[in-house]
Amino acid sequence: MSSEFNLIYQHIAPLAGSRGDVVLGIGDDGAVVQPQQGKQVVVALDTLVEGRHFFVGQDAADIAYKSLAVNLSDLAAMGATPKWALLSLALPQSCATSTWFERFMTGWSDLAQQVDVALIGGDTTYSDTLTVSVTLMGEVKVGQAITRSGAQVGDDIWLSGSVGDAGLALTKLLAEQQLHAAIEQRLHRPTARVALGQALVGMATSAIDISDGLLADLGHLLKASQVGAVLRIEAMPFSVAVSEWVEQSGWEKPLTSGDDYELLFSASSQYRSQIQLLALALGLEISCIGKIAAQDQGLIITKEGKEQAIPSRKGFDHFASADIMKTS
Ligand code: ADP
Ligand code: MG
Repeated sequence: MSSEFNLIYQHIAPLAGSRGDVVLGIGDDGAVVQPQQGKQVVVALDTLVEGRHFFVGQDAADIAYKSLAVNLSDLAAMGATPKWALLSLALPQSCATSTWFERFMTGWSDLAQQVDVALIGGDTTYSDTLTVSVTLMGEVKVGQAITRSGAQVGDDIWLSGSVGDAGLALTKLLAEQQLHAAIEQRLHRPTARVALGQALVGMATSAIDISDGLLADLGHLLKASQVGAVLRIEAMPFSVAVSEWVEQSGWEKPLTSGDDYELLFSASSQYRSQIQLLALALGLEISCIGKIAAQDQGLIITKEGKEQAIPSRKGFDHFASADIMKTS
């Protein structure tokens, strides 16, 4: 594409940031970064596809923000400090304009500046379907990365923030119903729990970020840790709007809808007060929603002491046609 370089250099290059550990950033065949001594590099990649992860015609600022946020959420779940990003843009001709790039840049820098992430390179190409892919790298002390596989029987299960808001927003938007701007933001501009993830190093025995639905993602953690769990519905952190949704449609909806980007983690009960203090320090709700149990117990969900049926659909399924967002 003839104008590719102009667009990249005019609009993307200012997103480079000013990290001292970027030895060579955008402009060469590859970037060079300098990891700290005693650290390991944690890498994650997430792709957002138009019509599947965001609406056709969505503000480019939201797309940029979300593409970085979802990767920040993965690094947070590993306990890593985010540092360097690579950005792949596959754009339809209609997006290759200064207006689109300016919006994209605004959304990206809104978030990248908050977390001090440098854009160190990427790739730009044409495609019929707008697709944004971000690779994010960060650091964690050697051997300290939090994984999905360390949960121990008897650990508490904790959840940050609230669940179901993004799922509610998507449901209402698809039904063309009114919704509160704050709830809509949870879908378009999720908040990755970056500081929480880093603070959990040494405390959490396992962690995962909730992207496809709480039950689906908890399932991944239980499988990796070879344990079971007991969850209490009355301990679930639901916003006022989601509580109303639960009254109308049941607790299953918010626990099986995607895009929450909260952290779910396990920790020994000895850390209970430390986690509560951490919640205060971060100004973030962190709720104890259950306990890790033996694997042969599987997953048990209780509500007011009564065991509940486990929903067959546990979360967002990328290959299910029912989960495709509106495409026109
Ligand atoms: P090459 O052909 O050697 O892969 P490109 O022409 O694709 O290089 O890119 C030139 C420079 O611009 C590289 O440093 C690359 O990392 C950067 N770049 C290209 N597209 C993007 C993008 N979407 N975001 C960030 N950097 C980009
Ligand atoms: Mg090259």
